[in-house]
Amino acid sequence: MNAPGFRAFDAHNHLQSERFGGAQERVLTEALGQGVIGMVVNGTCESDWAAVAELARRHPMVLPSFGYHPWRLSRRSDAWINALEQRLAEFPGAGVGEIGIDRWILDPSVQTQTRWSAAMKGEKPATLAEQEEAFLQQLNLATRFNRPASIHCIQAWGRLLELFQASPLPSRGFLLHSYGGPKEMVKPFADLGAYFGFAGSFAHERKQRQCEVFQSVPLNRLLIETDAPDQMPPDALIQIPLNRPADRNPVNHPANIIGIYRFAAATFGDKFDQDVCAFSAQMELNYRNLFGRGSNA
Ligand SMILES: [Zn+2]
Repeated sequence: MNAPGFRAFDAHNHLQSERFGGAQERVLTEALGQGVIGMVVNGTCESDWAAVAELARRHPMVLPSFGYHPWRLSRRSDAWINALEQRLAEFPGAGVGEIGIDRWILDPSVQTQTRWSAAMKGEKPATLAEQEEAFLQQLNLATRFNRPASIHCIQAWGRLLELFQASPLPSRGFLLHSYGGPKEMVKPFADLGAYFGFAGSFAHERKQRQCEVFQSVPLNRLLIETDAPDQMPPDALIQIPLNRPADRNPVNHPANIIGIYRFAAATFGDKFDQDVCAFSAQMELNYRNLFGRGSNA
């Protein structure tokens, strides 16, 4: 049971994903029942934006975010950037994401791995130059309309900082989702307006180094995320298991944000004597500062 006053916000997930097997309504009810008050649901390409929009229309707790993920760029239609602008016009509270750059996906030595195939679904990755062009076009839209951008970056942190320094940025800030960069880059990114997403997978013992990096993140720039259906937290933090027998790939439930809050409050909550309610109040403030009211209503 959660203490009264506990309210959780999932700063980044993909509730529209087909991996939920069409059970989105049930998943949302379950999440709400656990104290999840708001979540940012991120599209990844034109073909899933409609599902994101539909979730947002039906549920005020869903804040939609529309964008082209760097892994999905080969799916772009000729009119993709106009289609994105239309979605942003349709939802004045919507964010821009998931967008970003990724060098890992281009590494020939990982292209034979199952994890790579699962990520790419048989698609050809865009070159870094193509990724940067699409990323900057989308970042510019976020800046022009002052929308919260949700940014993916793997193995390209130095380059990302260079791009930020050469580009106008949304004045409200942006989210570095599942921040996997080094400690030394926390300050330069924070100075440019970054918020840092702490995902449940960082609670695995093998990710202890990343937890140490997060000790340098200012508390007013920390956000908690599930990245559901991806990034399973360790078993001890799982609130609601969602392993469907037909799917060997485990599905992370957005309600697992509760366990991640508990872990994060214990790890980063010195200022609040590790009290999860006081910690959650700070996270709510951060969420609302970046994403606005936190709903699309
Ligand atoms: Zn994501």
